[in-house]
Amino acid sequence: MVVKSNSNGADAPNSGSSELNSNESVKSDPVDPTPTEEDEELDSTLRPTEWDEYVGQEKVKENIKVIVKAAKKRGDPHLEHLLLYGGSGLGKTTLSHLIAEEMGANIKVTAGPSIERPGDLASILTNLEEGDVLFLDECHRINKMAEEVMYPAMEDFKLHLVLGRGPMAETKEIDLPKFTLVGATTRLALISAPLRNRFGATFRLGFYSQEEMEDIIRRSADILEVEIEEEAVVKIAERSRFTPRVANRLLKRVRDFAQVKGEGKIEADIAEKALTFLEIDEEGLEPGDRRILKAVVDKFDGGPVGLKTLAAATSEQERTILNIYEPYLIQRGFIERTNRGRIATEKSYEHLDEVDIDNRKLL
Ligand code: ADP
Repeated sequence: MVVKSNSNGADAPNSGSSELNSNESVKSDPVDPTPTEEDEELDSTLRPTEWDEYVGQEKVKENIKVIVKAAKKRGDPHLEHLLLYGGSGLGKTTLSHLIAEEMGANIKVTAGPSIERPGDLASILTNLEEGDVLFLDECHRINKMAEEVMYPAMEDFKLHLVLGRGPMAETKEIDLPKFTLVGATTRLALISAPLRNRFGATFRLGFYSQEEMEDIIRRSADILEVEIEEEAVVKIAERSRFTPRVANRLLKRVRDFAQVKGEGKIEADIAEKALTFLEIDEEGLEPGDRRILKAVVDKFDGGPVGLKTLAAATSEQERTILNIYEPYLIQRGFIERTNRGRIATEKSYEHLDEVDIDNRKLL
């Protein structure tokens, strides 16, 4: 079997879908959990606002509740700083809102890439109020000089400002209100040791179970006021990469499909058709995943193949493979990562054969 990259239309899941395309811009990558502008509205509509609505991650929730309770008992206006890590769309932002809620505190939200210089951080910190939660998303991407400003802020609630330059430079120390930093990252390894060490506790958010995904989809359907058959809930859950943001996005797509092609109710067969239309197979793999599997199997004889080579062969960015495709492919047992590179498992061969044999044009 010879694979020609980009030869099979896999990059164009919308081809032949004029009916939907004309009404709505269907994104090419429905299962990439990285938030886009389109997600902002959906995220905020569907974001749980109470602990009971936050499905799963039981251990993390329990631990955080204990931390909050203990701080309240001590009469502390803030918590030890918390670091949340896990893939995009797994619930880090939602959790930070719930933490603030539990503390009865306000939350200020910012992200690593928007802190380009120390002054950006200084202005955020000086605008905080006692007890505030500062949510710093993608904290591994904060500017390095700004990161140094963060150390004394986290440790002693002090801001060290350097005024002037060269030998005449002076350092001024400003007291900051006592705040709680909740950092979030998808790449724990990219956080420097000094920053990481200043967090009092680190929590990892993992993929959700099938049952948890089903609960999330039922709740979201309820909020969106769409009728959905139980079998359709199961199907969407199976294909949502065990990631709530992906599930919500798929639900919305399937709902749109049901409105255009059906009566509006999400029945099992409509869900199946919509998911096939989106080129998501039974294992929850999308064209990008299958392209990677095919490359490992066909171009590199099952591997091992290094990240750089794989990225070049599939025209994907290394970062995308690392953050989006690979965690799920590994979790589902399609590829294994060894120190010599990625290896395709037996399951990959079987799956590629199946989607081929089915002739459902999913490749
Ligand atoms: P992250 O910050 O990790 O990228 P978010 O917290 O923004 O993820 O989650 C994306 C969306 O997924 C939220 O708006 C919410 O609707 C849904 N979600 C995330 N975690 C949960 C959960 N545990 N229970 C229910 N819905 C969730």
